Amino acid sequence: MPQVEMSVKLISKPQNILKTIYSACRTCYSALTPDEIYSEAPDEEKMLKLISRVISSGHYSTIEHIQLSFAISNVSRACTHQLVRHRHMSFSQKSQRYVKEKGDFDYIVPKSINSNPELKEKFEEFMHKNALFYEELVNAGIKAEDARAVLPNATASSLVASLNLRELIHLANLRLCTRAQLEIRTLVDKMCKEVLKEEPWLAEHLVPKCERLGYCDEDKSCGRMPQK
Ligand SMILES: Cc1cc2nc3c(=O)[nH]c(=O)nc-3n(C[C@H](O)[C@H](O)[C@H](O)COP(=O)(O)OP(=O)(O)OC[C@H]3O[C@@H](n4cnc5c(N)ncnc54)[C@H](O)[C@@H]3O)c2cc1C
Repeated sequence: MPQVEMSVKLISKPQNILKTIYSACRTCYSALTPDEIYSEAPDEEKMLKLISRVISSGHYSTIEHIQLSFAISNVSRACTHQLVRHRHMSFSQKSQRYVKEKGDFDYIVPKSINSNPELKEKFEEFMHKNALFYEELVNAGIKAEDARAVLPNATASSLVASLNLRELIHLANLRLCTRAQLEIRTLVDKMCKEVLKEEPWLAEHLVPKCERLGYCDEDKSCGRMPQK
């Protein structure tokens, strides 16, 4: 089936996130060397108390040391176009120049269309015709880099995306907001859940911005929080 399901996996993270952030925090205010602070780090509860205070006070350089990488597949080009707007992230994405689509290529059907059988059928027909025309262009000798001009926003893509913890919190604040489109909201939610499996203490930070602010700063609010 050309219609595919999103997949998100955390593939790389530092060995000891809490101790690293703790050492960064304490280095600013201690006569000890970072190495000594790291080796003598206290229990998790004490580290978390300091880290929580430091993050809440906006001392964000301390969480920029934590680099995370995700393997993401079966997301639409529309979604990846939104994701790559985040300038503190690094991306390596499947190329539409070097990888030709074959036959009925994979695509993402937005939930609003998927839940309407009549529109879904028309959508699938459209994608099939689209695939035929793409193939016609390629068979006529047009390079993939030009034939892709006819590929829709729904075309499935895959990428490795990396970012530091500061940027992940920012990404969550913006893209978990109900004003963000459902697909990128789902993607960022999955990224956060992957991290939370191993670092549950981050739950209070990986939230939509209204939870951090205590109010909604959007023009059109979902009503979850009072407006500014
Ligand atoms: C609900 C929603 C709707 C959107 N709609 C549109 C739209 O209609 N059209 C559109 O074009 N975009 C739209 N965007 C994208 C949006 O404008 C931002 O480009 C995107 O969210 C990245 O946010 P950012 O710049 O805060 O984050 P990042 O690029 O991840 O940067 C993080 C932070 O770093 C700082 N920073 C980064 N680069 C600079 C810089 N050059 N100068 C100063 N500070 C910097 C800022 O503090 C920034 O918040 C939308 C985003 C959302 C969440």
